[in-house]
This record gives sequence, structure tokens and C-alpha cells, in this order.
Amino acid sequence: MKKRLLGKTGLEVSIAGFGVLPMGPSQLALPLEEGAEIIRYALQNGINFIDTAQYYRTYPYIKRALEMESFDNLVICSKSLCWDYEGMMEAILEAREELGRDVIDIFLMHEVRSGQLELRSGAWNALKDAKANGLVRAIGISTHHADITEAAASMEDLDVIFPLFNYAGLGIRRGESFASADEMYEAIKLCHSAGKGVFSMKAFGGGNLTAHYQQALDYVYAKPEIDSVMIGFGKISEVDDLLSYLSGSMDRAYNPDVSKKKVYINQEDCEGCGSCKNTCPAGAIFYNENGLAEVNHEKCLTCGYCSPVCPVRAVIMY
Ligand code: SF4
Ligand code: SF4
Repeated sequence: MKKRLLGKTGLEVSIAGFGVLPMGPSQLALPLEEGAEIIRYALQNGINFIDTAQYYRTYPYIKRALEMESFDNLVICSKSLCWDYEGMMEAILEAREELGRDVIDIFLMHEVRSGQLELRSGAWNALKDAKANGLVRAIGISTHHADITEAAASMEDLDVIFPLFNYAGLGIRRGESFASADEMYEAIKLCHSAGKGVFSMKAFGGGNLTAHYQQALDYVYAKPEIDSVMIGFGKISEVDDLLSYLSGSMDRAYNPDVSKKKVYINQEDCEGCGSCKNTCPAGAIFYNENGLAEVNHEKCLTCGYCSPVCPVRAVIMY
């Protein structure tokens, strides 16, 4: 698979990365061996870039895949939602421990929203110190926000940016409002011009654009400012589809079977506490006439963020 240098990091990454979120406990909850086998298969087929996070609880799959077979020049990115110095430093140490790697290639502040950069400066300082001390190679931000992506372009110490980007603009935000794909693309161009490495997430809008598979990939791969596109995989056939697309052998009429996986809220269990609604980055959860949470599937990114915050495990995916 084609590789590119990720900005000025010196890291060479495949133009498609492996997002490990879908196989983890907040989504498919695959058995360890099954998930690890999918990762190994992708690595055997030229993907060398893996995205995970403290929040995803997917480190064991990656570690197991690397126990099955060793791979050279692998680039692992993780991230943490922690806001303070100590929390971020602990997250980095946890990743090193649980992944069995002395150095984490890329570590990010996870899902930075408008107005949070100052508030999360403790975590950012931890990332800078971790890089200075050789615990990580490159640091940056993941975000769904066009304004944060713009700001990243002028952050001197930031090496990489991981923005949400898809042709429909699903999930792209600016402050409390939605923003367009064009706005995010302008911000991405700024980052690229500033020498930042750019890898994008949610090309399929969390599964909502999978029915337009090639259109979705054509859109992101037509952007030369994006070094790599991170794609979530939960099945070997999904890796095969991507390989087929990138090799140019995919029939232009083909689109995968639209994913049947959706996030639902079990109405018998829900207590209407609102935690899921407050956590949802896409504004996809609303209260129904019974005062209980429900998911608007038009907006849902299937990111799984609502699942772990539910105190009664009423958020389910099938
Ligand atoms: S309802 Fe919101 S938080 Fe839950 S999976 Fe969908 S987009 Fe993510
Ligand atoms: S977090 Fe759980 S209990 Fe609370 S509103 Fe959401 S689904 Fe219902």
C-alpha cells in the first residue's frame, strides 16, 4: 500500500489507517483473538498505521496482534480525553504498558471541542514533556471542530491533526453549530500548509455514508493535504473492500451491504438521566414523549461515546 510522510514527523504511514474503535467493548465487543486476527490481516496487507484511544479499551487487540506476528515500521496513535497534566501523563504510561511498547508513535488530546484548548493546557503540557522525554514521537489533537482544526495550524508544538471529515459534513462542528465539509477542508489546508501531518476520521460518517462507499472514499482521497484516512474495521471483509478500492480493482457499481449496525436505547432500561445526550458529539440523542432517550439515526455517527456513560447500560448496538 502507498505510504506518505506524515507532515514533518518523519513517520511514514499507509494512506489508509486501521481504526480499532469498532471492535472494542463499546461497539462490536469482538473476542480478543478475532479482533487481533483482523488487525494482523490488515497489517499483512500493507496497512501500517493504527488508531486507538484510552477511551476505546482496545489496546489488548493490538498487543495480541503484535504477539501473533511482528511488523516493522508500525505507527500507533493513541489519545486521551484527560484535561490535566497528571491524567494525560498517566494515559501515556498506561498505553506504553498495555501496548507493550516503550514509545508511542503519536499521542493526541482526544476530541477537543471549541473553547477547550486553554482549559486543556495541562494535558497539552504533558504531551510536550512526553515528547521531550522520548515517551512519544509526535503529538497533536483529534477533533470534530473546524475552528479547532484552524487553530491547530498555528500551534507551534503540534505535529499532527486528526479531524473528522466526510463529503456530507456529518458530525463537523464549529462551536455549538454544525459546520460544512468545505469549512473543515479549508482548515485542513491551513494545517497542511503549516507542515502539520493530517489524517482524517469518519469518511463514512460513522457508517451513515457506507451505502455511498466509493463516493465517500473518492472525496477524502482526492484531497492531497490528507496524508492518511483512518477507517474503522470490524470484519476482514471490510479490510478486503478497502484494499480492493485502493488497488483500483473495485467495480465502480459496487457498494458494500449497508451496515445494519445501529445504536439503540433500550427503553426498558433507560432512566432518562441525560448523560448520553450530554456526551453525544453529534446531537443525535433526544428525549421522547416518555422522557427517555432515543437516537436519531440520521445524525448518529455510531461513535459509541454514549455507551460507556450510561449508568444502566441502556445503550446498545446491533
Ligand atoms: S447517539 Fe451520539 S454518542 Fe451515541 S453513538 Fe450516536 S453519535 Fe455517538
Ligand atoms: S445515559 Fe442511559 S439511562 Fe441516561 S438517558 Fe442515556 S440511555 Fe438513558
